Amino acid sequence: MRGVNVVAFKWGVTRPEIVFGSRLDSVFRSPGANDNLSGTAAVVELARRAVHTPLAQRSFFALFDGEEDGLRGSRTFVQENPALVQGLKTMFNFDMVGVNAAPLRVTGERQLVDTPRQAAQIAGSSPDQGSDQVPFAQAGIPTLFFHRGLDANYHQPTDALANPELIRATVGATLKTAGAALKPTSTGR
Ligand SMILES: [Zn+2]
Repeated sequence: MRGVNVVAFKWGVTRPEIVFGSRLDSVFRSPGANDNLSGTAAVVELARRAVHTPLAQRSFFALFDGEEDGLRGSRTFVQENPALVQGLKTMFNFDMVGVNAAPLRVTGERQLVDTPRQAAQIAGSSPDQGSDQVPFAQAGIPTLFFHRGLDANYHQPTDALANPELIRATVGATLKTAGAALKPTSTGR
């Protein structure tokens, strides 16, 4: 089985401090609007909003393939880019953020989660779902995982709608968090 990761960055950026990631695959016979066009759209919108700001000089924007088949795209990225990954301060991952099954939740690095929660009145923690942040966390990188829970259409042929307002709100919370993630004291790295 072959897959394709799509990684975007500004010319000359070789040592990113943040990877904003999501996966672009979905399960067979599901159109995947929320799972996970929504996360993909969040990363594309983040890139669009960041492009003329200093954040783009410190970031990679990555769309991973093969998440549903065992995080294959993100695992491969981490394995093939060890020096880049070790230079990261944070990996942000977006998965199913276009349907309000639950309020937006963020889990992950203890010193970072308070910032998006306060900035965007995000709900408290939830059990972490296995997604593309896991290979980064296993490599020792602080991660933040943005997720709105499993909706009724999860993995169904009816996963056909995602709400752009919810995706935009996710992006807004992320941009408020990115500054804190880049502060050297916030992660101790
Ligand atoms: Zn899925």
